[in-house]
Amino acid sequence: MVNKHLTEFDFERASGFANAAMALLKRCHLPAFPVYYELFYTYATGANPDLNARVNQIFTQSGTLTADEASALCEQFLEINNMDEKLRAMSRAMSRKISDVNEAIEFAMATANSYSGSLQQASGDLESGIDDDALKMLSSRLLKETRRMQDMNRRLEAQLENSRDDISLLQRDLDEVRKESMLDPLTKIPNRKCFDEQLDLELESATRDEKQLCLLLLDIDRFKAFNDTYGHLTGDQVLRLVAQVLKANLKGRDMPSRFGGEEFVAILPETELNGAITIANMIRSAVQAKELLKRSTNEKLGRITLSVGVAQWRRGEKAAQLIERADKCLYAAKSGGRNQVVSERELPDAPGSIDVA
Ligand code: GH3
Ligand code: MG
Ligand code: MG
Repeated sequence: MVNKHLTEFDFERASGFANAAMALLKRCHLPAFPVYYELFYTYATGANPDLNARVNQIFTQSGTLTADEASALCEQFLEINNMDEKLRAMSRAMSRKISDVNEAIEFAMATANSYSGSLQQASGDLESGIDDDALKMLSSRLLKETRRMQDMNRRLEAQLENSRDDISLLQRDLDEVRKESMLDPLTKIPNRKCFDEQLDLELESATRDEKQLCLLLLDIDRFKAFNDTYGHLTGDQVLRLVAQVLKANLKGRDMPSRFGGEEFVAILPETELNGAITIANMIRSAVQAKELLKRSTNEKLGRITLSVGVAQWRRGEKAAQLIERADKCLYAAKSGGRNQVVSERELPDAPGSIDVA
């Protein structure tokens, strides 16, 4: 049934997107699998500008999209849906397993009840005194019942054993999905969701233990121009490279993550401002030092640089305020000429700073 709030206009628009998606699938000779369809439907709506930029770039380069390219785009841009599907499949498997185990237990309880009924009846018969023949019959009946009970116990044991194995496999899958849901699919470092959660945890622990904490916000300089010159796929390689440099320069509890697009963030627990500035400069120099080479052609792609904002957490302040201050620093680094680190100490409203304007 169509939602009564949907207007004729919505209907027309959705059909337009669907037709455009089908036309694109045809143009690329891709099968109308739901994921490919969803990719092109999203493209047709223009709801995800990064996806559109990427698809346009590939279209400009080769006029079409291969199945491999489409799959890579699905993995990156339809990530949440994939994860949803995995979780749904796992939750279905879990429910099935739980009802199997419930059924087995219910059956075992019914058998045990009937066995206990037989024993009670036998004990009544014995108390009221019975002759030899009746005793023989009783003992043979009890033997039969006991065998049935033993048999059922063995079956239950096997079934539970089996379920235990299935459940531990499901548990492993669940752990994997949980881990995957915290990673950025492109760079394989923690994603924004993981960063948000971790920052809250680290702020709690800094509050409790009365420790310092700093945040680095890093943004690739003029990355749009890089993409426009060398293509988004090469741009993606650069994002992976920056993620690797970040990882290599952070240690212990320091955590890098992809904040979004071409922005990264690093949480530095138990670190004061000067230490954080040093680390930020190390990362900035390490990125600048890399000469980029296109592997397939050995073409030299020059170098890329980073601008970095560094903020130090103030006792009692919320994550959002800290991020906002790091962002102001990053903005100052951009307007100061890029390829530089700016800390909150250099902001115009920093404590002790003199406004000379
Ligand atoms: P600035 O120095 O001011 O940061 O300039 P910029 O060009 O880096 O900034 P702008 O915000 O104008 O553009 C960011 C670019 O980053 C645009 C977008 O194409 C690119 N980008 C964002 N996410 C991705 C991605 O996942 N892969 C690739 N290849 N590029 C991306
Ligand atoms: Mg940016
Ligand atoms: Mg940028």
